[in-house]
Amino acid sequence: KLTSREFHPQDTVVDVNGVKIGGTENFVTMAGPCSIEGLDQIRECARIAKAGGAQILRGGAFKPRTSPYAFQGLEEEGLKYIRQAADELGMQVITEVMDEGHIDMVAAYSDILQIGARNMQNFKLLQAVGKTGKPIGLKRGISGTIDEWLNAAEYIAVQNNHQVIFIERGIRTYETATRNTFDLSAVPLMKKLSHFPIIVDPSHGTGIWDLVPPMARAGVASGADGMIVEIHPDPANAWSDGPQSLNEKTYMNMMKEVQIMEKAM
Ligand code: PEP
Ligand code: MN
Repeated sequence: KLTSREFHPQDTVVDVNGVKIGGTENFVTMAGPCSIEGLDQIRECARIAKAGGAQILRGGAFKPRTSPYAFQGLEEEGLKYIRQAADELGMQVITEVMDEGHIDMVAAYSDILQIGARNMQNFKLLQAVGKTGKPIGLKRGISGTIDEWLNAAEYIAVQNNHQVIFIERGIRTYETATRNTFDLSAVPLMKKLSHFPIIVDPSHGTGIWDLVPPMARAGVASGADGMIVEIHPDPANAWSDGPQSLNEKTYMNMMKEVQIMEKAM
């Protein structure tokens, strides 16, 4: 298989306009809000993200919400805002695409296309994002097995797109005390099975903000190539995922610790 380590023994390094993810490259951080809420909010998030050392700005404009009555995202308006905020600071953008019909639009604004956990086995979507040739951030499915996740990447790779970044974001188990069960063993396992880089998402992996910094540090220790983390200038009033979002102070402290961890590796 194209995704397998057997087929391609060397680590693949995904190059996002000069920001390299994988192999022996530095640990890369993607940070930003769960949802883009407005131009001022995403600008403030970008400022904080960059100050801590993140090179890639995250933020959702199309949100896969459990309830149809919850905020669904600012759509194209949000994409414009995140692109502007990132460009002002020389950052790259990652944002989710949920629908085949929106791929061209999202690809016009974003440097990495994020496939959300709920779409890991949306095979038509995987084929279509593969065809764009853009780097793809492939989240692990809500209850995705390692084999299903690898096969999802294969759907992208078979379209001649070899820029997949796996994102471990936790899986559903019997445990309800955390939002998901963060499966850090997936990091060394995926590295053994595949040449593509893997990053961790301790925000969705735990769902609880004060668990995020220790699990980010554990992510470095596990050998992850980077992380994606949710931040917000005012988590209590975030439009989505406030309980797992870090405020500026917590984020800055976490980033210092992560840098120390990285040097020790
Ligand atoms: C997100 O990144 O905000 C998100 C919806 O993540 P996931 O698809 O992992 O639930
Ligand atoms: Mn979120």
